[in-house]
Amino acid sequence: MARKVEISRRLQQRAERFLPGGVNSPVRAFRAVGGDAPFVVRGEGSHIFDADGNVYIDYVGSWGPMILGHAAPGVVEAVTRAGRKGTSFGASTPGEADLAEIVISAFPHVEKVRFVNSGTEATMSAIRLARAYTRRNYIVKFEGCYHGHADALLVKAGSGVATLGIPGSAGVPEEFTQFTLALPFNDTDALEQAFTKFRRQIACVIVEPVVGNMGCVPPGSGYLEALRAITRREQSLLIFDEVMTGFRLAFGGAQELYGITPDLTTMGKIIGGGLPVGAYGGPTEIMNLVAPLGPMYQAGTLSGNPLAMAAGLATLEYLREHKQEIYPRLERLSRELVTGVAAAAKQAAIPISSNRVGSMFTWFFAPGPITDWGSASKADTEAFARFFRSMLDAGVYLPPSQFEAAFLSAAHLEEDVRQTVEAAKQAFQLVNA
Ligand SMILES: *Cc1c(COP(=O)(O)O)cnc(C)c1O
Repeated sequence: MARKVEISRRLQQRAERFLPGGVNSPVRAFRAVGGDAPFVVRGEGSHIFDADGNVYIDYVGSWGPMILGHAAPGVVEAVTRAGRKGTSFGASTPGEADLAEIVISAFPHVEKVRFVNSGTEATMSAIRLARAYTRRNYIVKFEGCYHGHADALLVKAGSGVATLGIPGSAGVPEEFTQFTLALPFNDTDALEQAFTKFRRQIACVIVEPVVGNMGCVPPGSGYLEALRAITRREQSLLIFDEVMTGFRLAFGGAQELYGITPDLTTMGKIIGGGLPVGAYGGPTEIMNLVAPLGPMYQAGTLSGNPLAMAAGLATLEYLREHKQEIYPRLERLSRELVTGVAAAAKQAAIPISSNRVGSMFTWFFAPGPITDWGSASKADTEAFARFFRSMLDAGVYLPPSQFEAAFLSAAHLEEDVRQTVEAAKQAFQLVNA
């Protein structure tokens, strides 16, 4: 059953000559889980294919964007059609307003949107905008949440920062993070204390409404309501970072699912349909502060790129048209998968804690409950690594980190779920061995 790795290993060695760690984003290097990272040559639906000819059921989905599965025909067609007309002009193209219109239709509080090229740019810009609007300096983020790699946000961050066990990042002067308050997630008292201590100085609270970047950690009952109430009372902006959750948990993201209206929303991942896109949006009153209308400067050579707009539009139009079937089906299949694997763990007497919201989920190798970074960080990452490698050998590609959410796509089938649960039964035997 052992998968072939010779070609991927050679490609890795070659890549390491030219790229730090052989990668362009840290978690891809498999440092936390060991073993050989597959070099992907092709994807189709719920599957990816590597250079050695191995096939995997993919639960990474490019870390979230691929909700329609790989090489979705409508998306590939749209990108190809756009590309034939030229790939970038640095001038306005009709597709930008098309994508903006559908994005705005999904988020009732968003009246205007600005497209950028990544989630990092979206959150960085939204925070600049919140500071410009409130004329305050401090920002609140939560431990284990990841909002991209901007200086001020790399404080107690999730994702690769958590995976590699580093507290922040070298190269960020202390002065650049002096206005960043990192508080525990799901802890309303900590937030109240921060607002008491820094009265009228906190520009915004940025949160992943369902955290994906310390593994999947849902908000406790009433927590998002409390964030909304406190920020409103303190005239501070609430930013929902829906880069991962937007169009994933519901067409209108976590804010639709939980019925909470933030002041600003940041987006990425799915809105680019697999091409590089990010966005931030909110009410006209706030968005009109953005240049050229206002004094908050933010720009981008490739922002609103026609290929990216085409991929995003094809993806969102498909989701909108089929949302009545897609989201309930994602919910049902994901539940089947997560409970199936949890049952297999129980059978093998391995204490895991399963967190899931819709098609976002994590099996934490800890008894749980996992409600914040404090509890997530207690997970047995060695046991997770053994589980991960065994699943990979069995043809199941999970996020190569305990602290990243896995995703199901609309292209996954019952058969994929069944195979994955079977693979997990075997894998848990090896975790114990
Ligand atoms: C992925 C992610 C980002 C960063 O997006 P990039 O496109 O990788 O820069 C920001 N916030 C959240 C919640 C994310 O999941």
